[in-house]
Amino acid sequence: MSITTLANLIGGHARAPREGAHLDVFEPATGLVFARCPASTAADVDDAVAAANNAAPAWAATPLDVRAAILHRFADLVEGELESFAAAESKDNGKPLSLARNLDIPRAMANLRFFAAAITQWSSEAHPMPGGTLNYTLRQPLGAVACISPWNLPLYLFTWKIAPALAAGNTVVAKPSEVTPFTAWMLGELAAKAGLPDGVLNIVHGHGADIGDHLVGHPGIKAVSFTGSTRTGRSIAAITAPLFRKTSLELGGKNATIVFDDARIDDARLDTIVRSGFANQGEICLCSSRLLVQRSIYDSFRQRYLERVRALTVGDPLHGDTDLGALVSAAHYGKVNDAIATARAEGGTVACGGNAVHPGGRCAQGWFIEPTVIEGLGADTATNRQEIFGPVVTLIPFEDEADAIALANAVDYGLAASLWTDDLSRAHRVSTQLATGIVWVNCWMLRDLRTPFGGVRQSGLGREGGVEALRFFSEAKNICIAMESPQA
Ligand code: NAD
Repeated sequence: MSITTLANLIGGHARAPREGAHLDVFEPATGLVFARCPASTAADVDDAVAAANNAAPAWAATPLDVRAAILHRFADLVEGELESFAAAESKDNGKPLSLARNLDIPRAMANLRFFAAAITQWSSEAHPMPGGTLNYTLRQPLGAVACISPWNLPLYLFTWKIAPALAAGNTVVAKPSEVTPFTAWMLGELAAKAGLPDGVLNIVHGHGADIGDHLVGHPGIKAVSFTGSTRTGRSIAAITAPLFRKTSLELGGKNATIVFDDARIDDARLDTIVRSGFANQGEICLCSSRLLVQRSIYDSFRQRYLERVRALTVGDPLHGDTDLGALVSAAHYGKVNDAIATARAEGGTVACGGNAVHPGGRCAQGWFIEPTVIEGLGADTATNRQEIFGPVVTLIPFEDEADAIALANAVDYGLAASLWTDDLSRAHRVSTQLATGIVWVNCWMLRDLRTPFGGVRQSGLGREGGVEALRFFSEAKNICIAMESPQA
C-alpha cells in the first residue's frame, strides 16, 4: 500500500516539519499505516504564528463580501471532491463511509457556507443615551487565533472552528488531531484555489503533547478555540487563564437520554434512541451513554431496545450496511475494552455486546467492539460517571421526574441531554432543570447552526455556533460619542 506523506500548511506553502520527523497515521479498520503526518515542533508553530500575524492586517481589512465569497468557494471545492473527502474520513477515523458521506463532509461544507453567509448579515449594537450621546459597539477581528480539534468528527469540527474565525476576519493556526489529520490536510491543499491569501489559514500537524502548550501560550496568539477532552481542556486553561487569553473549551460529556412512560416510542423514535448511543461507534461528544428509563416501562422498553441494538452490524466501514465501524485507534480500543471490564468488575451485567469483533478479511486486525449495553450499576460507579466515548450504554431505571433529574445531573459533565415525553409541561419543566448546555426533546442531535452550542461544568466553557462564535472570534469595543451642547 502506498503511504501518503502529509505536510504542514504555513504561509500558503506545503512545508515539511523543520526537524523532519513524522507520525504514523493508521487506518482503524485494518490496523495498518496509510499515511504519515508531520511531527511538528515549536519551531514549526513559530513559523505558522508568524505567517498568521503577517497575513492578519490585510485579511482583517478584506471586505466582508470578499471573505464570504472565498469561504463559499472553499465549500464548493470540498463538495466537488465529496467522495474523496468521505473516503478519506472513513479510512482515517474508522467511521462508516455512509456516515462520512452523509454527515461529516456535508456538515463541513455547511459550516463554511453558514459562516460565509452569517458574516454578511451580522450587525452590532448601538446604545443611544439621553441628550443625543451615542454608544456603538465595534466588533473587531482579534488577529491570529489557534483552533484545535479532536479526532471523532475530524473535518466537521475542524471547519466548525476555522469558518467563524476566518469569517470574522482573523487568521488561523489550526491543529487537527494527530490521530486523524488527513482531511484537514486535504482541505489545506484547496486553500489557495479557494482564494485564501497566503498565511490566512495555517495548519500545523503533530502531537498535542509536543506542540499544544507552545501554541496556546504563544505570545502571537490572541485566542484559543479548543474541542477535545476535559483533561486537555484543563491543561490549556492553566496556560491561557493567567495570560487573560480568550479561550473557548468544548470538552467531554456523560450525556443522559431520559425516557418517560408517557412517551410514545414508535420504531422511528426507538431508532433515534439507539442511534443516540451508538452513532459513530459512540464517539460523538453528544452521544448518550446513560439511558434512563422509567421503571413502569423498563422491561418492555428494554426488550425492544436490546432487539434493536443486537440488530446493529459491526464491520468494514466501506460496506453499505455497516452501522458501526472501527474505533479510532489501538489506544482507544484498549481504553473502551478496559471500561467494559471495569463495568463488569463493578457488578454490571452485560445485557448485550461486551466483546471485541473480528470481522476477518481486510479488517482482521482492525479495532472493532460490539455495541454494548450494561445494566445494574449505580449512579456512583465509575462506569456511570466517567466518559467512555465508545459503543457502551448503561441502562438505568428511574421512578419519577425528580429521580430522573437527579440521576441525569449526577455527573461532573453537562453537555447534552435527550428527553422523551409527550407531556409538554413535563418537557419544559424537566428541560429547565437539567444541568446541560443542550436539551433535545423527542429528538437527538438535530442541529441548527444558529443555536448556541456547548456545555456546562466539566463539559466546557463558552458557546460555539451562530453569533456566539462570531462574538468569540471578535473583540467588542464600545465607542461613546458625547453630543456637544449647542453654543449659547
Ligand atoms: P484530546 O484532548 O486528546 O485532543 C484534542 C486535540 O487537542 C488534538 O488535536 C490534540 O492533539 C490536542 N492536544 C492534546 N494535548 C494538547 C495540549 N496539551 N495542548 C493543546 N492541544 C493539545 O481529545 P481527543 O481524544 O482527540 O477527543 C475526544 C474528546 O473530545 C472526548 O472527550 C470528547 O467528548 C471530546 N469532544 C468534545 C466535543 C464538544 O463539542 N464538547 C466534540 C467532540 C469531542
